[in-house]
Amino acid sequence: MDLKNILDYQALDSELFKIERELRENQNKKTASTMHESMKEAQGRSIKLEEKAGSLLAEIEKVKKQFKLQQDKMDEFMSKDLEKMSKEELEKLSSLKDKLAQNLVILERNLTSLAENVNAVLSDFNKTIKTFNSCKEQYAKSKSAYEQDLKAVESQKSEITKKLETLSKGIEPRIMEAYQKRRKENIFPVVVPLNNNSCGGCHIELPYANISKLQDEGILTCEHCHRLIYLKK
Ligand SMILES: [Zn+2]
Repeated sequence: MDLKNILDYQALDSELFKIERELRENQNKKTASTMHESMKEAQGRSIKLEEKAGSLLAEIEKVKKQFKLQQDKMDEFMSKDLEKMSKEELEKLSSLKDKLAQNLVILERNLTSLAENVNAVLSDFNKTIKTFNSCKEQYAKSKSAYEQDLKAVESQKSEITKKLETLSKGIEPRIMEAYQKRRKENIFPVVVPLNNNSCGGCHIELPYANISKLQDEGILTCEHCHRLIYLKK
């Protein structure tokens, strides 16, 4: 079997593979993707904080209402004519008054702590928005830089692709098909020589039966890495 064509094809394809690998590992692309993730995170966080602020404000309203109720009750007691009351009534009134005063202190404390919580949420919210905006800016920058990087290799890529297409016409379809299948899985090089009875890709030794099959057929698929093994001349 003449493998010159597929080896020529692979030699040229290695240039395309290199460009593709560089694009996959492109730093601008990676930064853009990280920034996009951070934007999503910040957005999710800001929604949660908004919800939290909403429920805190509702709680404050509730405490304020309780506060008002207690205060009204206090005022009511204060306005009573004490001289007309019995001793028992006076004692009851005094204990109620103490209790109300205590409740007011507790409610006031609750309000203060709620207000502190609201402030903390607001400051967190501001920070989150700042983070979001800075990520958005960096995302846009990295994305456009990556697009530039893509453009820079575009013509080179299409030139190689065209040449590969021409070369593929001289290659046995079943070999070409097997090659393309591995290539899509980012296995490279696809076609490797037999080195000391081992696969030139994964270096695992072939059983004798397979070597004899390889000698008969000229090409063999490695059972381990699925590369196409050929015999060096
Ligand atoms: Zn192998």
